[in-house]
Formats: sequence, C-alpha cells, structure tokens
Amino acid sequence: MLPASEVTEFRANLLDWFARHQRDLPWRRTRDPYAIWISEIMLQQTRVAAVIPYYERFLSRFPTFQALADAPEAELLAHWAGLGYYYRARNLQKAAQVMREKGRFPISYEEIRCLPGVGDYTAAAIASIAFDLPHAALDGNVFRVLSRVCDDATNIASSAGRKHFARIADELLDGTEPGMFNQAMMELGATICLPNNPQCLLCPVARFCGARVSGRQEELPVKISARKSVEEHRTVFWIEHGGALLLWQRAANSRLMPGFWELPERAQLPAVAAGRKLGSFRHGITFYNYRFDVAEASVPVDAGACQWIALEALANLPLSTVLKKAKGVVGKYRATNEPASIATASG
Ligand code: SF4
Repeated sequence: MLPASEVTEFRANLLDWFARHQRDLPWRRTRDPYAIWISEIMLQQTRVAAVIPYYERFLSRFPTFQALADAPEAELLAHWAGLGYYYRARNLQKAAQVMREKGRFPISYEEIRCLPGVGDYTAAAIASIAFDLPHAALDGNVFRVLSRVCDDATNIASSAGRKHFARIADELLDGTEPGMFNQAMMELGATICLPNNPQCLLCPVARFCGARVSGRQEELPVKISARKSVEEHRTVFWIEHGGALLLWQRAANSRLMPGFWELPERAQLPAVAAGRKLGSFRHGITFYNYRFDVAEASVPVDAGACQWIALEALANLPLSTVLKKAKGVVGKYRATNEPASIATASG
C-alpha cells in the first residue's frame, strides 16, 4: 500500500488525468442507474468496442426496467444475440422484474448486490457510478494496476489474494468521488497500464508506482489458477432434407442459452448413422476448449426432441454460436468441396 502522505496526490493525479483523457463512451454520458447497470452487465466478458452498438440498440428497445421486465423472451434474446453468455440477458430480465415489483431501481450497494447476475464488482461499479456510494470496484484492470503500483506479487487468482487487494482498493478509494475514481482506475488499466507493454511514460501515477522502480511491470500481476483448461472433442450433425434442417431447442429454463436452437449430437440422435465430415471448428467456453466436427448423417426414423426447421426461417431464430459456426463450415465446404476449418472463439 502507498504511504498515507502519497495517497491524496495519487488520487488527484489520477482524477485529473481521467477528466482530460477518458474515452467518450455512451454509458459515461448518463447517470441513469438503469443504463449504467445494462452497460456493466454487457461489459462482463465482452469488450468495450463490441458492447457499444448492442448497448445503444438494447436501450432504445428497452429504455426502462418496466419495458425490460415486460419484454417477450424471444425478443430479449434476439437483442442479445451475438454478445454471448446468454444467462446474462435472462438475469437482466429477472432483475428487471424484481424492480417492477418494488417500483424502483435499488439504491443501496446491498440491494444492488442482491439482483440476479450482480456480483461484488458490478454492485460496486453501479453503486459508485450511479449513486456516488464509496465502494471500490475491482475488475481485472484494477487488480493489475494495484499489483503494479504496490509492486505486490500476491496471486490475484486466489481468494485470499483478491481479498488482500480489495483491502488496498478500499484504502485508496477517493471517498468524495468514488464513481469517478473507480472509472479512472479501470480506464488506466484499459488504456495505459496494459497487460503487455504498459505505457509508463504516459502514466499519471508513475511517480507512485513500485513496479516501475523495481522493473517488474511485465511480471505483475501474478495470476496462478488452480484450474486447468479441459480439451473436448464433439461432433454435431448437419442433417438437411427437403429445404429444412434438423435442430433442437434449449429449454426456456436452461442456464446456458435458454431458448436457443442447436444442431443435434449423439445425445439427441443416438441411432443416427454419421456420414461425410464437412469440416471442424474450435469453440471456447470458460475453461472448456472444444473441437467440433461437423458431419452429415442419415435422416433419422425417430427425430426425438428434434424438429425440422425451414432453412429460410433460421434468420429469425436465436441460433447458438456453435450452430452459426457450423453453418459457416458447411457454407465453406459447399463453396470449395473441401472440409473446412474455422478458428477458435469464445461465447
Ligand atoms: Fe502501470 Fe507503468 Fe503506471 Fe506503474 S507506471 S501503474 S506499471 S503504467
């Protein structure tokens, strides 16, 4: 932690830099807690540039928590399609329904933290930015800045390490402008104190930075995860017949992508005979790295829970990312007559 004599100056330098250099982002032009909440949920696991168009479209269709609470699920998912991690959209609607019952947006940190889909970081960000409540918000950017400024090699992936940095963040927080201070810390991590090649010469808090003195900027933060990623190989079946494709739909209460359409696998069609391989692609979800093969298969006698969906209807349905990637593989195969391969992505 910084010596007490330097804390005031650290805050002043950071806030002054943020006032002059912050990026112009749509959610920074409002104090509406509803809009700030939507932006924070969208920014979980999604990059700023990708979020901007979704944020604007989403707010013009669902401008209030009442509109979101009342929205048909299919429409909600259609406005979320492409952002990935669909449980976030479902949680947004559940939370909006809680607000509709109470007749207002929650106004304390504790109340915000109780909303579905809101963790410690998101609650602190909303409470501080929308209501100026003194709660330090710690995202990956802030952990990195703290670890470097304090030249502290505590593991940020451990629960003890996170608590340790949370205590430091609480002490450093500017109690008079907590919302601005939190945003400034995050902005510093996102634009100057980068994971690789931190821009120390441009940094407004370089004077206070321990890692800059020790030369350990690139070694910090230390992040050692106990969990290893898991590789898995799966096959999805592309069964097309009479201008229709055989698909199944996830249940409305599924945690993962509720209501979305998927290609069948062995689990849905245990007796189907696999045919020609059309290609493959990689797909990452949290700790899982999947390699999917796309294969043709015979038309099943018993389609089980699957349904034939007209190809021209696909554009209006919520399709999983796996299905969209498989569609790309099939399109490429048909154009080249060669098994196609598509690169990894998450979602
Ligand atoms: Fe990060 Fe460099 Fe600034 Fe330290 S001086 S906080 S390492 S950008």
